[in-house]
Amino acid sequence: MIYLIKGADLYAPQPLGQQDILLSGHKILNIAPSIEIIGKDVVHIEADGCLITPGFVDSLVHFGGGGGEGGFHTRTPEMQLTEATLAGVTTVIGALGTDATTRSHADLLAKARGLSNEGLSTYCYTGSYQLPARTVTGSVTDDLILIDKFIGIGEVAIADHRSSQPSVNELARVASESRVGGMLSGKGGIVSIHVGDSDEQLRLLHQVIEQSDLPARQFYPTHMNRNKSLLDAGINWTKAGGSIDFTTSTNQQFLDQGEIPAAGALAYCLKQGVNISQLTMSSDGNASLPVFDDKGDLVGLEVGRINSLYHSFKQAIDHYQVPFELAIASISTSPADILKLQNKGRVQVGYDADLVIMSKTDLAIDKVFAMGRLMVDKGQAVVKGTFE
Ligand code: ZN
Repeated sequence: MIYLIKGADLYAPQPLGQQDILLSGHKILNIAPSIEIIGKDVVHIEADGCLITPGFVDSLVHFGGGGGEGGFHTRTPEMQLTEATLAGVTTVIGALGTDATTRSHADLLAKARGLSNEGLSTYCYTGSYQLPARTVTGSVTDDLILIDKFIGIGEVAIADHRSSQPSVNELARVASESRVGGMLSGKGGIVSIHVGDSDEQLRLLHQVIEQSDLPARQFYPTHMNRNKSLLDAGINWTKAGGSIDFTTSTNQQFLDQGEIPAAGALAYCLKQGVNISQLTMSSDGNASLPVFDDKGDLVGLEVGRINSLYHSFKQAIDHYQVPFELAIASISTSPADILKLQNKGRVQVGYDADLVIMSKTDLAIDKVFAMGRLMVDKGQAVVKGTFE
């Protein structure tokens, strides 16, 4: 199918003014102030009064389900296709979490392939919260080289009572395995780090980069908006060359306990002079949001939602005055570049045709293209998941 989208303001994410965009197959074929092409196979879309952005890249989604910290009945459900597409998300990176016993990489890979068949671009992390890492082949390096969907390892948990309390050497070893696997397969080999709420914060990461040859950019800590003190530790980490991620799924109790809304954390870091290329937001979709009492016992459980990514993007603009192109970059270009996802995160000729078209007045999502396929039209899902 060939689509010609006319008259929208393009944020690629940098603002490029009014542009026409030609999509052919999976790719963006041309971008120019005026493109004229006719033919019975060309679908014209008039997009006056709209903004066009890259499809959103959600760097952490438990799309196969997660949780379980309150017993088997608290395992969270799988994500469905339209939960992502209706929220503008066209690329998702899946991970296991606390539970790598009843959840498996085989299951995660099958879900990733299923979502790909339905139209999304999907990737996965090998490993889970704990070290030594669980893998498919027996080796982190081999998993990255031999399995196309695996782009790194994570979430490896630190500073958390649910982590395996990894040592400097353990974390450095697994990071080097991931790095080498990434180098040999043309992937990022990034180590996604789940940062818990203990006072240890990012101490272990600093020790690893001081005591090894690994660069800070090999690690990608998430949940950095957990509290103000951790957020400041995150800014310190960016000064060492690292990137940080903020989690958009939240609940009132977390906020009452001092969590900074992801959009607020983004605005704060930008004000502190952190470069947008080091700042991202992700949904942590389908994770459980466990609530522990002060003795560490679980007292409540909710489920993270992938559409929180879109709401936080909107909140960043409406409530925290983050410039539109920076808010978009935090959920497209920045995560795509950090994870070294090829042809993702930009509206650019030759890149994958992943686009969001939204209203200029209220940023409501009108259309979503994923790999050149129209998934959402007039705010409604026109492609549904197999069981939706
Ligand atoms: Zn986590």
